[in-house]
Amino acid sequence: MTQRRAPRTAGRVPPPWHTLSTEQVRQQLGDDPGGLSDAQVQQRLTEYGENRLAPPKRRGPWMRLLLQFHNILLYVMMAAALVTALLGHWIDTGVLMGAVVINALIGFVQEGKAESALDAIRDMLSSTAMVLRDGKRQQIDAAQLVPGDRVLLASGDRVPADLRLINSKELRIEEAALTGESLPVEKSTDAVAADAPLGDRHGMAYSGTLVVYGQACGLVVATGADTELGKINQMLSSVDSMTTPLLRQIDRFGRLLAVAILGLGALVFLLGTLWRGETPAEMFMMVVALVASAIPEGLPAIMTVTLALGVQRMARQQAIVRRLPAVETLGSVTVICSDKTGTLTRNEMTVQRVVCAGHVFEVGGVGYAPVGDFSLDGRIIDLTHYPALQQAIQAGVLCNDASLHVNADSQWHVDGDPTEGALLVLGAKAGQTQDASNAQWPRRDSIPFESQHRFMASHHVDPAGESWLLVKGAPERLLEMCSRQRSAHGEEPLDPDYWRRMATDTAAQGLRLLALAARRAAPAGEMLGFEDVAEGFTMLALVGIIDPPRSEAIDAVAECHAAGIRVKMITGDHGETARAIGAQLGIGVGKPAVTGAEVALMDDAALRRVAMEVDVFARASPEHKLRLVQALQDDGQVVSMTGDGVNDAPALKRADVGVAMGNKGTEAAKEAADVVLADDNFASIASAVREGRAVYDNLKKFILFMLPTNGGEALVVIAALMLGLGLPLTPAQVLWINMVTSGTLGLALAFEPAEDGIMRRRPRPPGSALLSGFFIWRVLMVSVLMMIGAFGLFVWELQSGTGIEAARTMAVNAVVMAEMFYLINSRSIFASVLNREGLLGNRYALAAIAVCIALQLAFTYAPWMQNLFGSAGLSPLEWSKVLGAGLLVFLVAELEKWVIRRTGLATRLAERG
Ligand code: ADP
Ligand code: MG
Repeated sequence: MTQRRAPRTAGRVPPPWHTLSTEQVRQQLGDDPGGLSDAQVQQRLTEYGENRLAPPKRRGPWMRLLLQFHNILLYVMMAAALVTALLGHWIDTGVLMGAVVINALIGFVQEGKAESALDAIRDMLSSTAMVLRDGKRQQIDAAQLVPGDRVLLASGDRVPADLRLINSKELRIEEAALTGESLPVEKSTDAVAADAPLGDRHGMAYSGTLVVYGQACGLVVATGADTELGKINQMLSSVDSMTTPLLRQIDRFGRLLAVAILGLGALVFLLGTLWRGETPAEMFMMVVALVASAIPEGLPAIMTVTLALGVQRMARQQAIVRRLPAVETLGSVTVICSDKTGTLTRNEMTVQRVVCAGHVFEVGGVGYAPVGDFSLDGRIIDLTHYPALQQAIQAGVLCNDASLHVNADSQWHVDGDPTEGALLVLGAKAGQTQDASNAQWPRRDSIPFESQHRFMASHHVDPAGESWLLVKGAPERLLEMCSRQRSAHGEEPLDPDYWRRMATDTAAQGLRLLALAARRAAPAGEMLGFEDVAEGFTMLALVGIIDPPRSEAIDAVAECHAAGIRVKMITGDHGETARAIGAQLGIGVGKPAVTGAEVALMDDAALRRVAMEVDVFARASPEHKLRLVQALQDDGQVVSMTGDGVNDAPALKRADVGVAMGNKGTEAAKEAADVVLADDNFASIASAVREGRAVYDNLKKFILFMLPTNGGEALVVIAALMLGLGLPLTPAQVLWINMVTSGTLGLALAFEPAEDGIMRRRPRPPGSALLSGFFIWRVLMVSVLMMIGAFGLFVWELQSGTGIEAARTMAVNAVVMAEMFYLINSRSIFASVLNREGLLGNRYALAAIAVCIALQLAFTYAPWMQNLFGSAGLSPLEWSKVLGAGLLVFLVAELEKWVIRRTGLATRLAERG
């Protein structure tokens, strides 16, 4: 099948692409230097289909339903059903089987909800590819690639399909996804022997592997299921499976509890039959019911739903979670390290100032619209009088990988790096368009910008046929390369002090710095290499670019500070620029900035001190990020780190929460990250932290709701046995309560929105236990209260002569009533719910309560229910007593919270997590 769909040449099977020369490959695929035309793409898309892998095989719905029965509780109940059937107690068998089926269905629906939430998020992580089509570079959805497409690869990209490389520049690819080899492989365009293993086919780049260095151009030879990755049928970039450390902890706890409950059940059985003389058949059913009600079977399912809902809410706030444990970790983050450009700032760059030797020009206009004047000392100038300025502007337009467009509604926008876009706009303001400049000075080769080396270089030929090398980049870097400078009078020796002074002065205003330089020379070798740009350049100008802070980032930084989270800015920019922008954002105000070079000189102990003290790190490279993360972690911090480049991957992996940029980030960074920001915005990190805290809160709230409701029922039965009174709840009734309340009520807590003050608390200490002493107290207290309400009512009614059936019906209603009230209590662990928002704020809770009320009315009044469960209708007076039992739990629980708040215990407990 693979062979049928692979590119065909006159009906033959596809050639082994790695054995063909680049010429042969190009010929076979009908390659044109401008890439495929639209028509060809359409035709090949219909022939070969989209470049997609089939999603990983999932369990079918039947299998998923079946697996719901694989659960201790359901085993117990099914065994019991069998026993009752053998004894001929058909009603009990029916009730048990009904409970089993309903439990399984609830689990099934909840799991489905969690999965569909995650599926929606998976789709948000689709990848793109840079191709040459119709003679133009374009970024397309990787699914639209077809055989024959010319794909351009750059470091950080994930290879989008199987490619035969036709040119390559120091390309290195990490093929671990395919070969398991984690060391990058050097690529070339050479053909290799037909029997070479995958790892040795140097002329090929395989789908799913990561470019870690260099650039290349390749022709697509296989897409979708025909790729090597498709053949081993592995999905990349998927969201992890639904488990986290906390979930595992809870799961273990749940199982332990189940075993303990089974033991307790056996004990109760012995007590009942031997001591109290109940019949074994009756006691057996009772114990089964007890076990069924006490085992918190909904726990894992609802935890998963809570997490999945949290992930969904984060996605709505533009933070896409790739690894689920990050949801929990986010809530305990103590330090957020963030990029500056584009994350804290708007990334809408405008050149405001051009510094030439001897002159400082100011540039008017805002945004990308190319309108604005050049002025000198406040007077608008005529550019033709300043050839040095013009030459600098031209260098900025030529040594540039971005492009400037105007769309239909005359909005200007930039494709590519906004820093470069700003230079194009500058050129356009000076009447130098990109197309005209490139036509006059065609580009032969280039070294693209990378934050590692902080410059970009290109090789051009001028109209006279002379070769020129142009560089643009960080001023410190360029000053090392220059020995001369261009002034109004021609060339003269370099005055480094002048440039440094101007750089500091410009940066102190928060402007981003870029220097431009040129050299009349050709590359020594065939291609432009680093040795060609080491020296002999002439400095043309310094450019100051404004990139204003995002206003929402200013608020988000303040919010993080209030939440006890330190915000650190890590940038490749100049120290003064970083400090000035930091001050506008409220980061590191009044404190010095530390540069990457200084970090490099510190040993680990010194860095650990500085890492906490200093908030602005400038001229920092990816390796400094890694050391910073380690230093902060050694200090006991829980660190979130952002990144976008290939080299950021180690720091992202190391951080407790690695955050990659969705727009400007490379695939390599996204791959390494736990969270991907769809909008690259710092504010989204802050909202993800808030959601992370909310999820953790909701998990706690759910456990605090679930355990006492199970415990209460169990206590009622145990108390009755101990006191030797008739059973207040029949086995069938216990199963009924469990069925009515377990799936409906608790689930509502998964929808709880974040509490108001959630970002004014300190971060939860990492590793703090969920089930603390306070938890045990609260669970016991509420269990006992429920028991008092239901059991007390039962005893009182019996003693005042009410029939056993009505008394039991009241006990059942009292338990359910108490659970409904306690659900409202549980909306907040410490805060009062005695207000409008507290009582009515969660409409899922209100809906769940409404459903419970309807079911209880049916239970009490429907004749067939009365037959099945032995229930009886109640009078208004009896209902008011039932209501009283619910209110008892509700009011005492609120009182307990009030006492805890008053004694200041709440803050201390909250701080301990
Ligand atoms: P950050 O993203 O943290 O602001 P970068 O690594 O992008 O930092 O940039 C660091 C420095 O590199 C900038 O201050 C600038 O001088 C230079 N630079 C940035 N972008 C480019 C580019 N496209 N071409 C050349 N130099 C650049
Ligand atoms: Mg950048």
